[in-house]
Amino acid sequence: MAQPQAVTDAVRELQSLLGTRTSRAESVREQHSHGESYHQAAAPDVVCFPTTTEEVSGICTISARHGVPVVPFGAGSSLEGHVHATDGGITIDLSRMNRILRSSVEDLDATVEAGVTRSQLNKALRNTGLTFFIDPGADCTLGGMTATRASGTTAVRYGTMRDNVLGLTVVLADDQQMVRRGFRVILESEPGIRVVAEAGDGREAVELARRHAPAVALLDIRMPILDGLRAARQVIELSPATRVLILTTFDADEYVYEALRAGASGFLLKDAPADQLITAVRSLAAGDALIDPVITRRLISRFTLAARGQPGVPDELRQLTARELEVLRLVARGLSNRAIADELTISPATAARHVANILLKLGFSSRAQVAAWASRPAGASAADRADPPPR
Ligand SMILES: Cc1cc2nc3c(=O)[nH]c(=O)nc-3n(C[C@H](O)[C@H](O)[C@H](O)COP(=O)(O)OP(=O)(O)OC[C@H]3O[C@@H](n4cnc5c(N)ncnc54)[C@H](O)[C@@H]3O)c2cc1C
Repeated sequence: MAQPQAVTDAVRELQSLLGTRTSRAESVREQHSHGESYHQAAAPDVVCFPTTTEEVSGICTISARHGVPVVPFGAGSSLEGHVHATDGGITIDLSRMNRILRSSVEDLDATVEAGVTRSQLNKALRNTGLTFFIDPGADCTLGGMTATRASGTTAVRYGTMRDNVLGLTVVLADDQQMVRRGFRVILESEPGIRVVAEAGDGREAVELARRHAPAVALLDIRMPILDGLRAARQVIELSPATRVLILTTFDADEYVYEALRAGASGFLLKDAPADQLITAVRSLAAGDALIDPVITRRLISRFTLAARGQPGVPDELRQLTARELEVLRLVARGLSNRAIADELTISPATAARHVANILLKLGFSSRAQVAAWASRPAGASAADRADPPPR
């Protein structure tokens, strides 16, 4: 539970961000204290009514700064008690973000704000011949349906909603306009991916990432004013939900290491095929890490040496079992637990357990750090090897 002073400070900042679209009125808080479930009502400290993505991003920044939790609120139809603010906090009511921004019959898709409801979308599509078919039995918002992975009797399986909705936003940063144009064309040819802003230097990239809070920021390493690595650090600090993909023409291992230490989740060479760029962006948005296969091959060969117990192998690796080494190689390739499970023909739960053991034994807190550590320059000195892994 947030400290009362933290809540007071957060509310003051929220009021200056949103003015009268912030409410502490008891009736409004009560209205947001429950969904359709039987759970006991639990009201938030304050309710906000943003109208833009930038405002949602601003609310989240304030929440993070003061350690006050946020609870998004769609139509409040959840049956599982999702919207209850059991420890108080900030409720973000999305009902005023209800615009249908674009619909395209050719692409069979529509771009909507999160507060648009299922029936609202179908009403707008009525004359186009298109229909949004997922119907969970309530007139809920598309944001809420995405969060709950709603399905229903018209869907072919559970959890279908997520596969149909992908508002994956990207900020692109490269000092060459032609390169940016190329990346934009590739990314926007994919349904659900939208480039929301382009930057010509690192400082602009940081500012645009702060403003748009994109799912992914694509940063070239070499940029004027602020290089991609320093920009990555600032993007992650100012927009914690954004995952950073570093693009470069250099495939030197130290760049990979530096990029991942800066907090990047992916590293791709600029001459990678277009489908790899799309895969990388989607993987990062889904929470995985991805390193260019060209570089990954080098990492794998280093681990292969380790598995054979050759001299020059970092001591830390000797703690791992043969199976954990296998899993480690796949983590270094950026594979998710499910993909690791498929590759090794084990269950996702077993894969997750191996990954947890590896993190524990090597003293890491995330799989991206494992990949970073794995990409250290070969031939580390004995003293270096004696060091604990970087945290
Ligand atoms: C009568 C009835 C029948 C139902 N039948 C089915 C069914 O057959 N199959 C099925 O799958 N579901 C079913 N549901 C559940 C339904 O899918 C959910 O109620 C719905 O998805 C929630 O949408 P909402 O807009 O009301 O979200 P809310 O109830 O307001 O929120 C639900 C969750 O999503 C989060 N959330 C809301 N908006 C956002 C956002 N923009 N960004 C991030 N998180 C957000 C909230 O914090 C909360 O955790 C049924 C519900 C009812 C009332």
